[in-house]
Amino acid sequence: MQDKLFIDGKWEKPRKGGTIDVINPATEEVICKAGAGTSNDVDHAVKAARIAFDSGPWPKLTGAERARYLRAIAGKIDERRHALARLEVTNNGKPLPEAVWDIDDAAGCFNYYAGLAEELDNNAEEPIAVADTRFSSKAVREPLGVVGAITPWNYPLLMVAWKVAPALAAGCTIVLKPSELTPLTALELGRIAEEIDLPPGVLNIVTGTGPDAGEPLTEHPLVDKLAFTGSVPTGRKVMMAGAQDIKNISLELGGKSPFVVFADSDIEKAVEWIMFGIFWNQGQVCSATSRVLIEEPIYDAVLKRLTEEAAKIKIGNGLDEGTLLGPIVSKGQYEKILGAIERARQDGVTVAAGGGRPAGFNSGYFIEPTVLTDMTTDSFVWREEIFGPVVCVKPFNDEEEAIRLANDSRFGLAAAVMSEDRARCERVARALRAGIVWINCSQPTFIEAPWGGYKQSGIGRELGRWGLANYLEVKQITSFDADEPWGWYIKG
Ligand code: NAD
Repeated sequence: MQDKLFIDGKWEKPRKGGTIDVINPATEEVICKAGAGTSNDVDHAVKAARIAFDSGPWPKLTGAERARYLRAIAGKIDERRHALARLEVTNNGKPLPEAVWDIDDAAGCFNYYAGLAEELDNNAEEPIAVADTRFSSKAVREPLGVVGAITPWNYPLLMVAWKVAPALAAGCTIVLKPSELTPLTALELGRIAEEIDLPPGVLNIVTGTGPDAGEPLTEHPLVDKLAFTGSVPTGRKVMMAGAQDIKNISLELGGKSPFVVFADSDIEKAVEWIMFGIFWNQGQVCSATSRVLIEEPIYDAVLKRLTEEAAKIKIGNGLDEGTLLGPIVSKGQYEKILGAIERARQDGVTVAAGGGRPAGFNSGYFIEPTVLTDMTTDSFVWREEIFGPVVCVKPFNDEEEAIRLANDSRFGLAAAVMSEDRARCERVARALRAGIVWINCSQPTFIEAPWGGYKQSGIGRELGRWGLANYLEVKQITSFDADEPWGWYIKG
């Protein structure tokens, strides 16, 4: 089944018949082979989605009717949460409790957008007061059309849910291209769609590589919208491909997010949140707070406790009890991260903790929690997203310097600030140029709140009502209600 694509409600082999090895990053073993979809498969899937949108029942259903499907999907995810979580660990490497959390969040996302679909029945139309009272006008929100959704490997099912749930709630139809590294839970979503009798063509899943399956999706003329999550270089390509037909585009891209810790912070709380901000999911988190700025008076104390605690994190197979740091997702990412640490060493950066493969691991893409210090602000590790358990730590002297250093980045996805002084937290939160700012914490994410980046971290917002708006067009309907003639050409 994993080597098939889900198109128009049916499972079919890729037309060219290719497969992609799916690897368990903890053991480096091939788990199974996934279908290598290509442009012919994408074309077939997009046409199925187009027909389902243009002449199928889906966009014409009421929000409440669509909500029933969304809740059924949430129910099925919930029913198999343990199996899905284990599959996520086997394919992505993350510790099991994190995977369980992701699966619960994915189910929560479908339930949440079911609620917003129901609300659409009452709020899809908004009367507009116009100055000329002979007219009445209203704004009507309608489904945007066929969505091409492309997702990354760091939260395989959750990133899919963030796109599929609001798109379905809005009444769109979808072609989903999950990451070739982690396609398994997305394929399970296809099975769930089949089980709940989602109308054919509403959700299509084409696995395959970026160039072979992703690119044709971004270029397909029958796709109305591209919803992409991934790296900045790929986001740029997606935007350029979409520009050809002026497609609607939303991009959730990378980051190099700062965490500003003021001297009045509790040192133990600061260390715990710094660690959660960078070691959770092996640091493979778009919003990871990978640049930590610590006010000078507590710099040494925080660094000491951080290096001590980082060295204690239990590394292992995500399925093993007590594991808090699993392997990196793939050999390619593993080598990229080790390369970045090596480059830091050559640039004269101090490796204060970790910095390599943990002792005793003969297989699997494991990297120690790594703390770097003494880097310049133009060094590679300070400026570029490493996407691994690697944190850069730097001292600062005052609030103004902290804000300047924090904002000195081409990214602007997230930021965090910690202080006992609430007014200062609020002030700094406003000054930080980022789409998400955490106060006295880092990373907790809520389905109800907007998610997305400033600057090169992206365009648009996912989650909350902003996530639904991504998949809706706004139509103006204006009516001339007066009995009198218009009287421009034909005078009474
Ligand atoms: P990636 O850009 O390599 O790949 C993302 C997806 O794009 C994959 O499905 C891939 O197959 C596809 N792709 C690759 N080339 C393509 C092309 N030319 N045309 C169309 N599709 C193509 O990213 P990744 O390594 O999978 O994920 C890591 C990146 O994602 C990091 O930069 C991270 O910050 C970012 N990310 C951002 C968010 C967010 O919400 N902002 C969330 C998760 C991950």
